[in-house]
Amino acid sequence: MFACKLCNQQFEVIPNDAVPVSQMRRGYQLFRFKNGELHDLREVRIPALTLEQLSARGKRGAHTRRHINQGIRKMGCKYCFPDTAQAEEKKL
Ligand SMILES: [Zn+2]
Ligand SMILES: [Zn+2]
Repeated sequence: MFACKLCNQQFEVIPNDAVPVSQMRRGYQLFRFKNGELHDLREVRIPALTLEQLSARGKRGAHTRRHINQGIRKMGCKYCFPDTAQAEEKKL
């Protein structure tokens, strides 16, 4: 995925017939498209995981390190006590 700095359009790919008209700078490169339009394109990486997913994974990682590896079950940790966590949620 590529995003244009000039017009905010997004492109899946840079067309083969688009001609680079500048050096790449700060990740952007100016292209002249076949139809005469100029687009200053930068590759956009779509994160594989959302921040929410990353944070959930982080919590689970902390539980694995601090609880499972230490052989303890921590009150309030929903991974140590999945049943109570669910019960609490139902009450709310
Ligand atoms: Zn553009
Ligand atoms: Zn835990």
